[in-house]
Parts: sequence; C-alpha cells; structure tokens
Amino acid sequence: MQTYNPTHQSEPLILKNIIDYQEISRAKLTKITNLTKSSVSDITKTLLDKDIIYESKVGNSTNSGGRRPIYLKFNENSALVIGIEIGRNYIKGGLSYINGSLIREKSYTQITINRYNIIDTLSQIIQQLCSDLPKSSYGIIGVGVAIHGSIYKNKITFVPYSDMDEIELQEKLSSHTHLPVFLINEANASALGEYTFTSNSESLISISIQDGIGAGIIEKGILYSGKNGNAGEIGHTTLYPDGRLCPCGNHGCLEQYASTTILYKEISKLKEVEYCDLHQVINYWHNDEEVIQLLKNNAKLISIGVNNIVSMYDPETVVINNELYREIPDLINVIEKHLTRRNNRNVFIKNTSLEDKTTLYGCLSLVIRQFLKLNKIKFNTNIFLT
Ligand SMILES: [Zn+2]
Repeated sequence: MQTYNPTHQSEPLILKNIIDYQEISRAKLTKITNLTKSSVSDITKTLLDKDIIYESKVGNSTNSGGRRPIYLKFNENSALVIGIEIGRNYIKGGLSYINGSLIREKSYTQITINRYNIIDTLSQIIQQLCSDLPKSSYGIIGVGVAIHGSIYKNKITFVPYSDMDEIELQEKLSSHTHLPVFLINEANASALGEYTFTSNSESLISISIQDGIGAGIIEKGILYSGKNGNAGEIGHTTLYPDGRLCPCGNHGCLEQYASTTILYKEISKLKEVEYCDLHQVINYWHNDEEVIQLLKNNAKLISIGVNNIVSMYDPETVVINNELYREIPDLINVIEKHLTRRNNRNVFIKNTSLEDKTTLYGCLSLVIRQFLKLNKIKFNTNIFLT
C-alpha cells in the first residue's frame, strides 16, 4: 500500500489550512501561515504531485491587476477509508472517501460476536465493502475499528460484556486483510466523529450510552484518552458506594443504574414483559406515566455523569449518543434541567447529528488523521447534515 508522508516541515500546516478553508489560493496560504511565497509554492507543488490536493479553479484578479489566483482543494477522491463499529450483537461497517463521505455501508445485526468468530466476520464485512472500489491514488489507507471496551496502544485491554479482550485483534485483522488496522474505544470514536464532522467546538465531550456509559473527550481538537486509555469511563464512576457489583470490580457504578440495557430491563419488569424494544418504549413515553418516570429518572442519573465530567473538563459541547435520547429529544431537556441546578449553565448539550453512525464516522476520522499525519482535522459538515 502506498503511504503519504510529509516531505516539508510545514507541509501538515499547509494541508490543514487547505482542508479548513475548503478552497484557498497560494497567496492566502502565504498570508495566513507567514511562510515565504516560495515555501508555499514548493509545498503545494509537493502536495499536488502526491495527489493529496488539486487545482480547482482560476479566480478573479484583484483590483490592482496581476495574475489570477488558482484555487487549491483537498482531493477527497485520493484515498478510501474503512470504518467498523463492533457492538454487543451487531457490526456496522462503512467505506468512505478520505473526507468521510460514505460510499457504502454493510451491517450485521442480531449476531453473536465472540473471540472465535470476530476475525472471520470482520474480514467478510471488509471484503463486501471492498467490492468494486472506485479508483483512487492510494486505495484503502486503513481500517478503523471501534470497540465497546478499553484500548491501549492499539490493543484491547478490557471488554466488560464480551470475551474479546483475549485476542490480538489488530494484528490478526491486519494480517488477514493486508491493511493497516487502528483500534479505538467506542466513546472516543464518537467524540472524534462529532468533532470532525458536525461541530464548531474545539473542546467537546461525547457520551455514549448502551450496555455501558463512556465519554470521549476532545480538548483543543486532540483526543484525550489518558495514560492507560481509560479516560472518560464515566460509567464506572461511583453512584452508590455499596451498590450493585460491576464487571469492573467496583460497586455502585453509574452504568449499573443508568445504562440503556438496565433501563430496558426495568421497563420490561414494570410492564411484566420478557423484553421491550425501542418502539415500545417510545409508545410508553406518549401514554404511560410510570415508564415516563423511569425515563426521566434515567435522564436524571445521566445528568449526574454529565455533571461529573463537565465539572472536570469544562467543555463547550456535550453530545449524547444514544438511540432513545435521539428518538425522545425531550430527555435532553431533562438532563439540561438537572444540570442547570448544578450551575453548569454554559455547556451546550445536544443529541448527535450523525444518527447511529457517529462511531463509524469517528473510525473514519481516526484513519484519516493517521494517514495525513494531522493530529486534528475538521471537514465541511454540510454533506453530513442534509
Ligand atoms: Zn464499574
């Protein structure tokens, strides 16, 4: 596989500005980077030769006359990226161009995932995504894989609700597919997805709520994952010191009371049914006072987690990544109401705008950052919000 490496010291700076501005002349690049005209000329020539950028159009000359500027754009068709989210009983995969624009998706739902079948299942999905690839200079530059567990240095260290921590996922998948593979915690991927494709904020926290509750923290555009990759594990902050035992070994962790799995169990118990799904819960929200109270209580518990992490990191934006909160946006207001009481007035709380693809987009962002050697990157979000 062909890789991209910067030739010049200031090449990442120039590339980042071309991506940020979406379309920019060499003269403007010179002005905003304080580099010399000849440096900008050399670097943009290198980026053109590498097919990372292209000349998009000739602009109008300025009032003082002179040469008409040629605009430069990031070449989103130069490479392809694969992102994959591994859930408890589902796998979602997507193939995109190097600006995150999705070409196709494949997903398996209601499946059993364990350490014996995960490599074959992922390889199948990757194979399906790779059929009939569009032409690109670099081909597929990597696979970003999000896991609902702890990741440290591209290795799975702890998966609370599966046996996958016993496998060398990155090495095995990479040798099966002959592609670079990058692992990331699911909540961290969600935060990267939000930061890269939907938000103007430089500091952002994304909270994923499913079996567990985790937060991805972006500070000044950089993902903060802590010394051991466990930063943002708010699901394992203590709600009740002598409470329920958690797979992490502690008692009374927030996610033992506020995860969506626990909430659905409580609703099923209340309604005396074996199982309830999203649609049933939405129906209850419209006409069942007891379930409404359970849902509001869930939002109150989530607000405790939000309050804890907001108090520590003081972000501009908190994004909630959960299917129930997306379907019942009023629950976001309940979180906000409880936060206001705790004086966290300035933080903006919202549902994700990427629907159920936030994590997938984060996986794409992870690979794109690695490939372009840029530690922060934001793309024009318009294509994602229509
Ligand atoms: Zn725990």
